[in-house]
Amino acid sequence: MTTTRRIQRVVAGQPASDGAGVRLSRVIGTPQCDHLDPFLLLDEFRSDAADDYIAGFPEHPHRGFETVTYMIHGRMRHKDSTGNSGLLSDGAVQWMTAGRGIVHSEMPEQTDGLLWGYQLWVNLPAALKMSAPRYQDIQSDAIPEVTENGTRVRVVAGTYKGTAGAAETLTEVGYLDVQLEAGATFAHGVPDGHTALAFVYRGTARCADVEVPAGSLAVLETAGHVEFTARDAAGLLLLTGAPLDEPVARYGPFVMNTRDELMQAVQDFQAGRLG
Ligand code: MN
Repeated sequence: MTTTRRIQRVVAGQPASDGAGVRLSRVIGTPQCDHLDPFLLLDEFRSDAADDYIAGFPEHPHRGFETVTYMIHGRMRHKDSTGNSGLLSDGAVQWMTAGRGIVHSEMPEQTDGLLWGYQLWVNLPAALKMSAPRYQDIQSDAIPEVTENGTRVRVVAGTYKGTAGAAETLTEVGYLDVQLEAGATFAHGVPDGHTALAFVYRGTARCADVEVPAGSLAVLETAGHVEFTARDAAGLLLLTGAPLDEPVARYGPFVMNTRDELMQAVQDFQAGRLG
């Protein structure tokens, strides 16, 4: 195998509030970590206090990228302004291509108990920013799993050991949920030049001589393969992708290439042209 990628930096999530007051931890999309091409935002929402999440994310627009919602535990109802609706529950994923525009709500469908999930924003290249909106609602049992040597890998997107992920993607991007028994090692080939990020959500994972605690994102070097060993039982989300190397112009829920395109997105939303 190739050399092992070392960790360039470890990013801690920042407390934030979004939607109608959902308390969350923002890992990507902060002053400390603006974006990691092609990833624009990563939020963790994880609370068993209903007041932290019950207000949800009422109707809001998106244009120019994709949102990927992965529920570890709890239920989230998605509705859009054209009548589409879907329910995500434990272990499910929604891969949503906002493309030229959608207006939707994302609301917890429970009044007590643990709500634990992630939202990732995946950027689209200029040529795809105005593509048709699309939803892929993927229930838990439709996500392939590869189990061996103390590792259990759920393949949400991309390919792992010849197993293709559940989501079809428009760009070269991978999303693995890697669950490790204590002492187990996970190794995965990623093309040189592709971004590789590991968000540890449970336990402690070690890369070379650096330990990454739960709640932290490891930003890896851009060449070599990815390898992590669990100290105690651990879980991590491994995100990989080809950088787009394009200008990023972002304003709230719109991510385009230029300021003019952003202004157009705001005008289109105000005129009711986003869905
Ligand atoms: Mn949204």
